[in-house]
Amino acid sequence: MKKGNINVSVENIFPLIKKFLYSDHEIFLRELISNATDATIKLKHIASIGKEKIDVGNPIIEVKVDKKAKKLHIIDHGIGMTSQEIEKYINEVAFSGAEEFLDKYKDTAKDAGIIGHFGLGFYSAFMVAEKVEIISKSYKKSAAAHWTCDGSPNYTLEKSDRKERGTEIILHIDKDSKEFLEESKISELLSKYNKFMPIPIKFGTKEETLPKSENAKEDEKPKTIVVDNIINNPSPAWTKPPKDLKDDDYKSFYRELYPMQFEEPLFNIHLNVDYPFNLTGILYFPKISNDLNIQKDKIQLYQNQVFVTDNVEGIVPEFLTLLRGVIDSPDIPLNVSRSYLQADGAVKKISAYITRKVADKLNSLFKKDRKGYEEKWNDIKLIIEYGMLSEEKFFEKSEKFTLYPSVDGKFYTYEELFNKIKAKQTDKDDKLIILYASDKESQHSYIEKAKNSGYEVILLDSPIVSHLIQKLESTKDKISFARVDSDHIDNLIKKDKKQVSKLDDEQKKNLEELVKSIIGEDRFVVKLEAMDSKENPFIITNPEFMRRMKEMQQTGGGGMFGAGNMPEMYNLVINTNSEIISSIVNTKTKKKQERLINQSLDLAKLSHGLLKGEELTNFISRSFEIIK
Ligand code: ADP
Repeated sequence: MKKGNINVSVENIFPLIKKFLYSDHEIFLRELISNATDATIKLKHIASIGKEKIDVGNPIIEVKVDKKAKKLHIIDHGIGMTSQEIEKYINEVAFSGAEEFLDKYKDTAKDAGIIGHFGLGFYSAFMVAEKVEIISKSYKKSAAAHWTCDGSPNYTLEKSDRKERGTEIILHIDKDSKEFLEESKISELLSKYNKFMPIPIKFGTKEETLPKSENAKEDEKPKTIVVDNIINNPSPAWTKPPKDLKDDDYKSFYRELYPMQFEEPLFNIHLNVDYPFNLTGILYFPKISNDLNIQKDKIQLYQNQVFVTDNVEGIVPEFLTLLRGVIDSPDIPLNVSRSYLQADGAVKKISAYITRKVADKLNSLFKKDRKGYEEKWNDIKLIIEYGMLSEEKFFEKSEKFTLYPSVDGKFYTYEELFNKIKAKQTDKDDKLIILYASDKESQHSYIEKAKNSGYEVILLDSPIVSHLIQKLESTKDKISFARVDSDHIDNLIKKDKKQVSKLDDEQKKNLEELVKSIIGEDRFVVKLEAMDSKENPFIITNPEFMRRMKEMQQTGGGGMFGAGNMPEMYNLVINTNSEIISSIVNTKTKKKQERLINQSLDLAKLSHGLLKGEELTNFISRSFEIIK
């Protein structure tokens, strides 16, 4: 037997590594299975280039828990190691790697900045084990070796009588890490980290029911056999060429990824590049509601089919973190902090590539099947609108596939909408006003009014819409957006139907004062307009600008004027040509005047959704009085 001292200066590595990587102990299993996978792939490779005659067979990796003996075994049938190789790769390389790692992350390891711990490798076994054994037989002709180490720099290396090619790693699980002796825990870890690794991984056995033979009797019980329980799918969809996959294959892979997800994805994007970086993957567009608190962290990041993390922040542009699926790239540096990651050139290119692929896919879906795309619009618009706001490159491309639905369910591209509105406009030099509604129900009367005047009203109802129209107004010439219940609409209608006021200046002045004294609320700015006599006597509108600033502040950013804290202000527009206004003006009794004004005002408030509480109660009793 040989005894030795591992050449590291850290006195007792064991407690140190535990301290540094406290939160992430479980990755030891991923590391060891990665090594076992590498060893198996290496053997296959050597056999395939035919240099040596090797009967590879169908090598699998096995994980075994021995709860009684407090041991966890990871067994492979890969290339194995000779005792010289163990000395070299484990004692020197692995441990010096670990020392370097510790040195590098002494200060930062704890601040969650590190994602993945590739590079720690074999050494991570000591996070959960008080003693580790390696029993290995190389594919080369040499005796098997048995290495033992208790995490201190002392190890022993002796001969072993193992006959099988490959390596068995035995972890003597530490008393603080007993959870890793539970089958359920190991099973959970295997399905988290190793679900798609390229070599089959066996964990226990399971019963399988055989199909009934043709001449089996009706009441005969189906036969079962015991088979290896293979926990992974060694060739997941993303590793296959897109041309070999059908729509159903993508869907069934989605179910494999998210077994608890019952809703089907809307469509998928297959990523596949090998220059200037290597990346494969499949992204799915899920159905997304108008709720901003949707689940992020659904995209899983892999490196060569090994799960790394489901936090892809910094790798995928923010707006695409709402997508689902898998990205697999060996080119993403993982043992760096997030802020470093975002500045990394390769990662920037990856992020730009993904954005471009998503834009291209949306464009082609729109072009190929506009109707189908329109049907999906409500489920995808939030991601698209979010992308338009946050990624300039995406915004530029988005014009081709962003839709503006009308309140009546027609869909326009920006260009189509622009042309439609332009055709109606009389004063060609003026700014175009695009009228929109954010809620078909509560803005119904305003929508109807606009439609009756021949305007197209579009429906923009996602929560970030105020930011979006602000952005559109600032990038496109000559347009501005106005909500149907905003002050702009009076101007539009007034301009279209030029009217002469039926009231003279004196009457107007008296009317204004009367109304002001009766409403007694300073949130209303009273304005007199001569409109069509059929229009309502009182119309409440919102100043577009103020409302938008408030909304923007509520959904984050944009509140540069502190508008969120401003009181709500409204315009109260009086249609001087309305019949009721004439009655008000011509009525002699003050009481009747007041009643007419109060009732009309309440009706205007009601149609703007402003009539609430005591006012609403009073209005209802007053209305009953009237119809009695
Ligand atoms: P890394 O895998 O990053 O090289 P490790 O510390 O995990 O670092 O392993 C060090 C070396 O030990 C590996 O490069 C490999 O040569 C050898 N090794 C580790 N595990 C195995 C194994 N199961 N079979 C064969 N060789 C192994």
